[in-house]
Amino acid sequence: MNYLSYHPIDVVNGQGTRCTLFVAGCEHQCRGCYNQKSWSCDSGHQFTAELEQQIIDDLNDTRIKRKGLSLSGGDPLHPKNVDAVHRLVQRVKHECRDKDIWLWTGYLLNELDEQQQAVVKLVDTLIDGKYEQTLADPKLQWRGSSNQIIYQQPLR
Ligand code: SF4
Repeated sequence: MNYLSYHPIDVVNGQGTRCTLFVAGCEHQCRGCYNQKSWSCDSGHQFTAELEQQIIDDLNDTRIKRKGLSLSGGDPLHPKNVDAVHRLVQRVKHECRDKDIWLWTGYLLNELDEQQQAVVKLVDTLIDGKYEQTLADPKLQWRGSSNQIIYQQPLR
């Protein structure tokens, strides 16, 4: 998996102070996408074991009270990303027990395959759906267009 950027302190992508990872790779091609550079799985940098460990360490760093991890992109549930993202969310659940996980995807919750479902089962807040330019509303919180749905566990 490649990633576009990692922000160890982020206050705009989800509730509270968070670590945020923007992964590379998205097949949705939404009209008006804010970052077409994110579409290629080859954009950005390789997601390494060192960065995975850095994220775990940042979440557990008691000097800064972080609420959790946010995963966006690109699409964290892109077929080429889903394995690495699954491993990361499993580690966060086991090693950072008081942290929550938010994940943004262009896929719909009810269209996810088995592998993608295994990831979202470990996610506390899921925002699904493509960005629809005709339904865009800057007043919306955590999402760009009104077709996108914010799900909290239990996801349904
Ligand atoms: S899902 Fe997000 S990153 Fe992918 S094309 Fe749509 S707006 Fe862009």
